Amino acid sequence: MNNPVILVVEDDTPVRNLMTTTLKTHDYKFLEAKNGSEAIMLASSHNPDIIFLDLGLPDMEGVEVIERIRSWSNIPIIVISARSEDSDKIEALDAGADDYLTKPFSVEELLARLRVTVRRLSLTHSNADKDSAIYINGRLKIDLSAGCVFYDEEELKLTPIEYKLLCLMAKNTGKVLTHTYITQNIWGRSWENDIASLRVYMVTLRKKLEAAPDAPRYIQTHIGIGYRMVKVD
Ligand code: CA
Repeated sequence: MNNPVILVVEDDTPVRNLMTTTLKTHDYKFLEAKNGSEAIMLASSHNPDIIFLDLGLPDMEGVEVIERIRSWSNIPIIVISARSEDSDKIEALDAGADDYLTKPFSVEELLARLRVTVRRLSLTHSNADKDSAIYINGRLKIDLSAGCVFYDEEELKLTPIEYKLLCLMAKNTGKVLTHTYITQNIWGRSWENDIASLRVYMVTLRKKLEAAPDAPRYIQTHIGIGYRMVKVD
């Protein structure tokens, strides 16, 4: 993707300035909004490629901004909130946000989140072009029509739940998926037991998928929040 346009939504002027200066320095185009209604207006009128959204806005909850935008658009949304607000992040991710950035954040973190999202967008576009039933990420290959998974061309023997879990993660490469989202998709419910089971399935899946299960490359853990499939080179 060439020159994505980023919408920065933040009421705190020094933080907003830090973000826009960083974007400017790295040749990204951007738009700025100081509150939720400006954000919704700019999102619909300018169709940005990515949104950075502060969750604590003066006129409405960040989650409401996400819900309103999601009613017409899949623009990637990266939420920004303080470290102590994990439950807010989870709520935002479940409302349709793609990723999060924790305040205070560094310029490097901001740029890293942006790169992950830009790569996810190009991956989504290239997969859509091919309209293919084959998912490839690094040494991992999923043949979705045959229901087979390969690592370096060698077939992995996955249980049905492991396969379902891997496909769900793969379909959302680059996105942080919450425990609730994953268990809802796998078991159709999200009880405490299901989240405990999810952890167990993740361990067995990683043993099969990751060369070093203790330092996973494909599926990252977000402690207290969920998991993310990463695009691997
Ligand atoms: Ca704020």
